[in-house]
Amino acid sequence: MNPKEILDRCSETCADALARLVSLFDAMETAYGEVADASGFRCTGCEENCCKTRFHHHTLLELIFLCRGFADLSDTDRAGAVQRATAAVAATAAAEAEGRSVRIWCPLNLDDRCLLYASRPMICRLHGIPHELHHPGRGVIQGPGCDAFHQTCSGPVRIRLDRTPFYRRMAGLEAELKAAAGFHGKIRLTVAEMILLF
Ligand code: SF4
Repeated sequence: MNPKEILDRCSETCADALARLVSLFDAMETAYGEVADASGFRCTGCEENCCKTRFHHHTLLELIFLCRGFADLSDTDRAGAVQRATAAVAATAAAEAEGRSVRIWCPLNLDDRCLLYASRPMICRLHGIPHELHHPGRGVIQGPGCDAFHQTCSGPVRIRLDRTPFYRRMAGLEAELKAAAGFHGKIRLTVAEMILLF
């Protein structure tokens, strides 16, 4: 079963999972805000915009959530996003074939604004501030903030966002949704690739 078939199949059964995802995203936003406030960090946009980072997303939940938001966009915004997604996928493939790295705007970013801010995937909500993850086999894994964070919040990192409880809740919710959908495959998609599935 491919992701498009899953989207069709889940459309009736995922309302509860999506409501719980919204609540999880709210909790992430609160925790992120607390760490950002404690660090004195405010994202005001920067040259190395994270919307140019090639993030891969790994859950059916995020795919369906984004798909739902995408359906509510105007015809013009949807058409523009599909055009930009097509160009982004082609440019990325060309760069990969030549062994080049590439930074391309996410097709949902229009004039420095996310067209689907309320439906954006998890990493778009967590990126930017120093974090840690308590891994069952690998111990505590720490990650840095973005360049803008370290430029504006100089000195040693005093507080980190612990992503562990959010990843756990996300994994539990994802497992429930996949079981309900009868989907046991893996997902690894950029936003551009997701849009081309819709
Ligand atoms: S989904 Fe929105 S926030 Fe995330 S990379 Fe794309 S434009 Fe940026």
